[in-house]
Amino acid sequence: MADPKSSPLMPLGEARQRILTDLSPLPGSEQLPLRSALGRVLAAPLISPIDVPSYVNSAMDGYAIRAGDLPQSGEVGLTVIGESFAGHAFEGTLAATQAVRIMTGAPLPQGADSVVIQERVRREGETVFVPAGVKLGANVRLAGEDLTRGERVLEAGKRLLPPELGLIASLGIPEVRVTRRPRIAFFSTGDELRSLGEPLGSGEIYDSNRYTLHGMLSRLGVELLDLGVIPDQREAVHAAFEQAAAMADVVITSGGVSVGEADYVKEALEALGEVRLWKIAMKPGKPLAFGRLRQAWFFGLPGNPVSAMVTFYQIVQPALRRLMGEEQVEPISLHLPCTTALKKEPGRLDFQRGQLQRDANGQLSVRATGSQGSHILRSMSLADCFIVLPAESGSVEAGSLVEVQPFAGMM
Ligand code: AMP
Ligand code: MG
Repeated sequence: MADPKSSPLMPLGEARQRILTDLSPLPGSEQLPLRSALGRVLAAPLISPIDVPSYVNSAMDGYAIRAGDLPQSGEVGLTVIGESFAGHAFEGTLAATQAVRIMTGAPLPQGADSVVIQERVRREGETVFVPAGVKLGANVRLAGEDLTRGERVLEAGKRLLPPELGLIASLGIPEVRVTRRPRIAFFSTGDELRSLGEPLGSGEIYDSNRYTLHGMLSRLGVELLDLGVIPDQREAVHAAFEQAAAMADVVITSGGVSVGEADYVKEALEALGEVRLWKIAMKPGKPLAFGRLRQAWFFGLPGNPVSAMVTFYQIVQPALRRLMGEEQVEPISLHLPCTTALKKEPGRLDFQRGQLQRDANGQLSVRATGSQGSHILRSMSLADCFIVLPAESGSVEAGSLVEVQPFAGMM
């Protein structure tokens, strides 16, 4: 492999592809009660044990009839002989001259073949007048119409969200097998960093990256091991690397990854493991170290709070999803007019922070969220999307079409 030190900046798409090719899903799975499986990834395909619906039923409120036996023209009066409610079936059998009042989801009575909706009939006492032309099978849901027994309902690699919990419950399945949660050890590096609760001295700042990381990792459903702040000392960084690699599947650090005097992260990865990728042609977030540390995967994020978040979403999150066995999902991207001018120099793929908005006609557009410095977390907090400007692009004039990646589903 080429010496990463001398390699030029790698395009983001290529870097992500290399990383995803290096990683394969972690072994191990566990059986969980359905509710606890929310946000986890299915370890095996889910097979339906039943037909859904399990019985023939009505799709509408109306009257169950034998449409096949009705005259082709004119109205016909049928005797209403009973009712079928969801959970309370009509027990008898229907003759051609009879009808049963029926509600949505209720079982279709024996002998009936169709449902005429209540808006189309006239009721007089125990007689219901039905117009001609009710189609055979109208408003009837057949057993197994939704899912048939033995059918694959969900594939392995599907992340279980609220619709999946409901779908699995509708099959009567109380427990599911999901992939193991990866163990992620993470720490911040920097002599200037103080933890919450400590007083700030001059030239010191509070460590915020461990909080954004805590949030982003929690949302992914991984197991978190927060190792705190490590000072900028070679021995301390090496010791933290060893400790983290011994307990985790993945080690994530922030800071100390550029080329400053006190940036020991890449050096430690070279000494104790293997650097597979460094420097990516993106902004913010150019320095990013990826590699192997003992038996763990390693991601060294840049220290600037916005850079750490952008590189997490663009690189680490897809990687962790792969380790969790999830099918890969491309972020949604839209092309929208940008109502603010954007500053950019050609060279690197740029992720600016944007806000979606609607004009008076309901047309969607985007604007930048003020100051775009990579240390300004407020620009992330105000944003609901990334504005993605291609590497070769220069500054963008107001009104130009830009690519937008909404955060929805990403954060
Ligand atoms: P570094 O990559 O260590 O050179 O850090 C780049 C910038 O990000 C510096 O201004 C650091 O003070 C800041 N920084 C690094 N780590 C953190 C952190 N955990 N929380 C907030 N800011 C940080
Ligand atoms: Mg630092």
